[in-house]
Amino acid sequence: MIPGVRLVVLGKQGAGKGTQCVRLSHHYVVPHVSTGDMLRSEVKSRTSLGQRAQSLMEQGELIPDDMVMEMVGARLSERDTTGRGFVLDGCPRTTRQAEALEKIVEPFGLDLVIDLQVPTPLVMKRLASRRVCVDCGANYSTAAPPLVNWTCDVCGGEVIQREDDTEEAIGRRLNLYEEETEPLLSWYKERRLLTEINGTGSPDAVTRRVVGAIDALRRQLKDRGDP
Ligand code: AMP
Repeated sequence: MIPGVRLVVLGKQGAGKGTQCVRLSHHYVVPHVSTGDMLRSEVKSRTSLGQRAQSLMEQGELIPDDMVMEMVGARLSERDTTGRGFVLDGCPRTTRQAEALEKIVEPFGLDLVIDLQVPTPLVMKRLASRRVCVDCGANYSTAAPPLVNWTCDVCGGEVIQREDDTEEAIGRRLNLYEEETEPLLSWYKERRLLTEINGTGSPDAVTRRVVGAIDALRRQLKDRGDP
């Protein structure tokens, strides 16, 4: 397996993007770039970006495009991502972000955009039971908690319910997804970059589907002689 891939993963909140993106970043040996994780870290460190973002995030609102894309542009110009690629999680969320991303990733572009499809009632159920590690962002749920007393199995951090996983904020985020992010699916379809993947079932089953789709694409590119 040749490492390296330049990938965007789209999907509603609770579709399993975080879990799948961590697995894909290990599988293809590329950094997992999550705008949600980056923003939470800015909030935690009380940077000026974090202070501006905090209340918007708590209410489930989107952070202004320019602020997010400046942060993404800086991250995607670091050596690890320019050299090996990335799994981008949580971005783009608006057409303006997709346009800005198109410029950031020039001249190579993206290999693939995955749409992880999960019905809304199922994502609502998953979000209500979701728990995360405050330190490393590892995902758990009330049905699959960490082994010991809500302490993260990976790093020992405290495992909690996210502040924006309240019923009100979840509703707002899902509405915003429909209004702002869903139009991106046809935007990427027109550019022949979109692959739709069934995101229901066990995390292992979903990973097999996603890796199968990425590897099929890489074989096609290789057969065509693309780098
Ligand atoms: P996530 O962890 O991806 O669910 O993101 C958590 C929150 O961070 C979102 O509800 C937004 O407030 C903010 N956020 C993350 N990524 C973006 C983005 N690309 N554009 C705007 N806001 C974002």
